Amino acid sequence: MYIVVLGAPGAGKGTQADILCRKLNLPHVASGDLFRQALEKKTELGLLAKSYMERGELGPSEIAINMILERIGLADCASGCVFDGFPRTLEQAEALDKALMEEGKSIDKSVYIRVPQEELIKRLSGRWICRNCQTPYHLVAAPPRVAGKCDKCGGELYQRTDDKEETVIERLKVFFEQTLPIVDYYKKQGKLIEINGNLGIQDVAEEIISALKPFMIADVKNSD
Ligand code: AMP
Repeated sequence: MYIVVLGAPGAGKGTQADILCRKLNLPHVASGDLFRQALEKKTELGLLAKSYMERGELGPSEIAINMILERIGLADCASGCVFDGFPRTLEQAEALDKALMEEGKSIDKSVYIRVPQEELIKRLSGRWICRNCQTPYHLVAAPPRVAGKCDKCGGELYQRTDDKEETVIERLKVFFEQTLPIVDYYKKQGKLIEINGNLGIQDVAEEIISALKPFMIADVKNSD
């Protein structure tokens, strides 16, 4: 099963994609992580993407598409995965459909996690992440037990450069202008599931699972 998780930055798509992956035993394919890995390894592509990421803009679609197609070509994605952060533009959505179709596959469902804009700004500007295991924290809503340290692994917490306030505003603008049209794209294909993301993490996760359940009874049962 191939699922796309859509949502503005701060809507909780990474967290929800992660929960969904564990529940359905599917790999988590996050384009932002692929960009950050390329940046950490200082590859040519990573260095090219750096300036876009720091400005809160989308990187070149061609790079994103190539990275994703390479990732889903690996054996663990042969029967499905959960996409997080990809597609981000109509061009990317069409490229993904085309590539899957060539393999006789298709996106099964797209889950759009909807959160009001004021809430997104509040969430993003307090977000800190463990450098080691990537667990997210929030200075107000979900602070770590010891300031600056991860509860799970003791790793150092850091704020992503693109979570700084001016970049957050740019990332939200980019989302509403360039990514939101994809919601309609999947709606027209009859694949969209819209979820109220303005709830707690577990409540949102339950809503997603119950909305997907009718389409994947076997998968959910197997993982219970
Ligand atoms: P994310 O972690 O998904 O918020 O992504 C972090 C940054 O990586 C974005 O602000 C973009 O600069 C870049 N990025 C991630 N996914 C894509 C994509 N599908 N297309 C273009 N740029 C992307």
